[in-house]
Amino acid sequence: MSINVTKSYLPPLEEYVGYLEGIWERGWLTNNGPLVQRLEADLSTVLGGARVQFMSNGTIALQVAIKALELTGEIITTPFSYVATTTAILWEGCEPVFVDIEEQTFCIDAAKIEAAITPRTSAILATHVYGYPCDVRAIEDIARRHQLKVIYDGAHAFGVQVHGRSLLSYGDITTCSFHATKLFHTSEGGGIITTDEELARKVWLYKSFGHIGDEYYSLGINGKNSEFHAAMGLCNLPRVPEFIAARRQLSELYRTELAALPLRYPVTPAETEYNYAYFPVIFDSEARMHRVKDALAAHGINTRRYFFPSLNKLPYHTGAVCPVSEDIALRVLCLPFYQQLEPEQVRWICALIRNHYA
Ligand SMILES: *Cc1c(COP(=O)(O)O)cnc(C)c1O
Repeated sequence: MSINVTKSYLPPLEEYVGYLEGIWERGWLTNNGPLVQRLEADLSTVLGGARVQFMSNGTIALQVAIKALELTGEIITTPFSYVATTTAILWEGCEPVFVDIEEQTFCIDAAKIEAAITPRTSAILATHVYGYPCDVRAIEDIARRHQLKVIYDGAHAFGVQVHGRSLLSYGDITTCSFHATKLFHTSEGGGIITTDEELARKVWLYKSFGHIGDEYYSLGINGKNSEFHAAMGLCNLPRVPEFIAARRQLSELYRTELAALPLRYPVTPAETEYNYAYFPVIFDSEARMHRVKDALAAHGINTRRYFFPSLNKLPYHTGAVCPVSEDIALRVLCLPFYQQLEPEQVRWICALIRNHYA
């Protein structure tokens, strides 16, 4: 039996079918249907009141965010994230300027941002990587002093609380992904979160082709999502606290079982309630990481080099040097991690890793 690096949670089928019956009765499949509206309201409650717009995926959410904030020129960003963070900037005709990450959280190093600001800088786009929070207070301060916009890529950050509020409520906009591989998922899906009503209206228009009925206001795109995806979200959302609790236990088990080995992990900053979105491990060398990856693969255990390469090394972007990110990207491996994983499976994976060191 093989173990994948992740496994999507599926709710009891009857529960999902219950929502399908409603969709069949109404014959309303997409375009801001009642389930989409309900999911948006429930998400807003869970996130402490910020307005949430349910969208087709996290990548379109990033692109619409850049468009709605009218960003141009250079956007300061992190080299340690999923590729979509960088491609969204390029796709919107802006230029990513990479600032290296810090050693504790692997998020953008706020202390290095100011040196990268030029007259062409319009914004900071930072990722709360693996759910570990960026230094939101320092970034807010820099943005205010230099009149920059802030977008957070919150694709990993669902359920994280920082300084007593949802991590997703920081910045001018936070984007989310609800892709099947994320902690909270709607199969495919994403969202934009903002507390600015004017900005929220703009996002609403942009994600719906720029028109309301027969009135055409602006350029737009199709960033909407369907009743079927909203139904999956409505099934999964109430279970998120359960998912996080189960992941916390599995994470503690991994840490205990691997305690004797020379491994490194990201560090949770103060005043943070973490969501245990991933289980990344940093090996002492790239060669060691490869040997462990291969040894696990021989037993049908899939791990992932998440995130590799460091995004400043992408073939369509050259120039930037980010030593910390490049080094971590070479040595990191995400181990299998999802709430349905059995403690026995974690013990087995850890025994195989320990054997490798023996
Ligand atoms: C998954 C992910 C995205 C993209 O989200 P999709 O919903 O798959 O388009 C963007 N940024 C990060 C950091 C991600 O992990």
